[in-house]
Amino acid sequence: MEFLAEGGCLCGSIRYAVKSEPEFIINCACSFCQRFTGGHYLVETLFPLDDLTVLSGTPKTYDHKSEGSGKIIHIHFCEDCGTKLFMTFERYDDIYGVSTGTFDNPNWFPRHRDTTKYFYISQMPDGVVLPAGYDVFYGHGLKLDGTHNTPQRFDSPTEVTPALRKAALEFARKNEEI
Ligand SMILES: [Zn+2]
Ligand SMILES: [Zn+2]
Repeated sequence: MEFLAEGGCLCGSIRYAVKSEPEFIINCACSFCQRFTGGHYLVETLFPLDDLTVLSGTPKTYDHKSEGSGKIIHIHFCEDCGTKLFMTFERYDDIYGVSTGTFDNPNWFPRHRDTTKYFYISQMPDGVVLPAGYDVFYGHGLKLDGTHNTPQRFDSPTEVTPALRKAALEFARKNEEI
């Protein structure tokens, strides 16, 4: 099998590889993703299940019930060093969501505007700057029934402020995005 890129945990005991470019790059600022990362948002790259292979080590899993969907999120992490490598999902049972920063080279794939999206502006912390011309969702990109929400796009780089977050939350609630 021809792999395109490898990644791993901090201590090196778990190594993985992928054989395709990510289908989507989701920058998600929901409260789960903020707690998952400890950062402003998770940069999550999505791959079909068959395209990711664990090369060494065995990730431990923690099963978390999503507050939004009520479905289980399986978090795969290294029990020695605590690095969270990827997730699998009850709701989306055919994909891996990889913590992009665990790739040896986080820039190995191109970041296209048509595959890179921003989720949950309604919960994004102050000061994050959203780039112009990218799909931005005030809540999730998909409704619970699987239909797509409508993305917004900013004409110029836009800083998240309390006012923007408040407007995003009202929009997301009105359109049942969250
Ligand atoms: Zn480790
Ligand atoms: Zn999220």
